[in-house]
Amino acid sequence: MNRCIFCDIINRESPAEIIYEDEFSIAFMDINPVTPGHLLIVPKKHFRVFTDMDEVSAGELFSAALKVSRAVRRSELKPEGLNLFLAEESAGMQEIFHCHLHIIPRYSGDGFGLKIKYSDETKNQLKINAEKIRKIL
Ligand SMILES: [Zn+2]
Repeated sequence: MNRCIFCDIINRESPAEIIYEDEFSIAFMDINPVTPGHLLIVPKKHFRVFTDMDEVSAGELFSAALKVSRAVRRSELKPEGLNLFLAEESAGMQEIFHCHLHIIPRYSGDGFGLKIKYSDETKNQLKINAEKIRKIL
């Protein structure tokens, strides 16, 4: 496996502004913040993508995300809101292939956004697409 920057941070082989850590997860400031307080929650075990995670690790990751999100909301940064963003694979905008969850504090007019193109064709396929997912669960 190639060297992983997030594993290096977990192992203290690369510097990071760590703000929280428990047995399963670590949280540190994003080195390229889109808004003040932008941080990442990362499982300590290396999972390439979210859907590779086991349920315990995923639950612990979101539990840590809740704890850290509350701290961000109550902090002097005083965000007006938050976005949680998880990218999977290049098509989903994942750039570092060690699963991670972004916590992005939001402020009116901060300029962060997603480009959304609604599709009538996709809307017309709701039942068909729901069944494609339902039959796997
Ligand atoms: Zn890693």
